Amino acid sequence: MELTTQQLAAQSAAGTIAHSHLGPLAPSLDHTEAFPTESLKALGRAGLLGVNIDERWGGLEAGVYAYVLAVRALAEHCAATTVAMMVTNMVAEAIQSFGNDEQRERYLSALRRGDWPALAFSLSEPDSGSDAASLKAIARRDGGHYILNGVKSWVTSGGHAGVYLVMASTDPSKRSRGISAFLVDPGLPGFTITRPEEKTGLRGSSTTQLVFEDCRIPASALLGEEGIGFKIAMSSLDGGRVGVSAQACGVAFAALRDTALWLAAPERADDPRQTVWRESFARHVAELEAAWSACEHAARLKDKGLPLTREAAISKLHCTETANRVCAAMIDIVGVEACHSGMRLEQYLRDVRVTRIYEGTSEVQRIVIAREALKASMRKA
Ligand SMILES: Cc1cc2nc3c(=O)[nH]c(=O)nc-3n(C[C@H](O)[C@H](O)[C@H](O)COP(=O)(O)OP(=O)(O)OC[C@H]3O[C@@H](n4cnc5c(N)ncnc54)[C@H](O)[C@@H]3O)c2cc1C
Repeated sequence: MELTTQQLAAQSAAGTIAHSHLGPLAPSLDHTEAFPTESLKALGRAGLLGVNIDERWGGLEAGVYAYVLAVRALAEHCAATTVAMMVTNMVAEAIQSFGNDEQRERYLSALRRGDWPALAFSLSEPDSGSDAASLKAIARRDGGHYILNGVKSWVTSGGHAGVYLVMASTDPSKRSRGISAFLVDPGLPGFTITRPEEKTGLRGSSTTQLVFEDCRIPASALLGEEGIGFKIAMSSLDGGRVGVSAQACGVAFAALRDTALWLAAPERADDPRQTVWRESFARHVAELEAAWSACEHAARLKDKGLPLTREAAISKLHCTETANRVCAAMIDIVGVEACHSGMRLEQYLRDVRVTRIYEGTSEVQRIVIAREALKASMRKA
């Protein structure tokens, strides 16, 4: 299918910044764990931190298919920078959909000006991951403020984000229907950012805890109404899963690209093991292309405004599981050289691992797929 002008523009802008900023920095970010502030600001100035945001608020208004093309192009060069870009796009879409004009102007336009490198999404807690509705952070109304208490964990871009979208309960008796979403500015008294995680992969993306101790946030920080925080989080997840699918595929396509160069090197041309290597290589090319098609399909459904819960889960499961297999198999082909001499294959395997965990683990995707497929069968019966 032919790409639209906007899709081509998003893909090409992402490719240009990936080559100029992300690729050259990626190996050093992996060693130093430095946060890629300037690369992200460059993405913001190009509109790529708001691919699906209206032009009025500084976005590209290019749609979800354009977004997955951009994510794939970036992840082929640096998955760590890409995860910060993805979370920022996800939060920007939540602000556009549920926020008021003052919040849109304040937070979305700032990204296009390059004021901030990222926005952050804070749902997980030390004792609530997959079962997000069991979160314990509490926001109690006090006149023109809320008083926020609790600990949030695994926050991508913690310590660097311009604002944190924080889910907390305003009415614990209502469980998921009592959860509200707040746009919390960093630097408020009672808000501390702690415990940067030392991760196996995505080491250039900062991941931290947020601790709130009687933190007073203005009532104007509420996103939408009280009680719709869980709905905001869940509506972000379908789109988020398509993004993670594209990220996983991007990393695996990079593994295929680097392995192809290794296979084609003149000193290996007559190696008798080429047949075996190529058989494995071909099998994984085919598997990854099929997975990528599932991602494209889910993205196009979202662009058409059609339901995609089942397809987003299928895409995430298929892309992330396949991408992990591809990255491991390319190391098997190259052997010990994959782990040194400047090759990045072992980094790809470390980076791609977590795509099977965040935005819903593979087990959670299977639960969603079974539930949706059973519902569809009941409708047909
Ligand atoms: C690098 C990184 C970045 C992240 N960024 C963010 C972020 O920006 N914001 C944020 O809010 N969170 C973030 N997370 C957290 C992430 O979303 C959670 O790790 C994820 O939701 C899984 O939760 P958990 O790790 O607590 O695992 P758990 O939910 O404790 O799951 C543990 C195991 O049990 C399985 N399991 C869970 N429930 C079921 C069930 N009902 N049936 C069968 N099996 C089940 C899981 O599949 C898994 O195998 C990030 C995590 C990482 C690693």
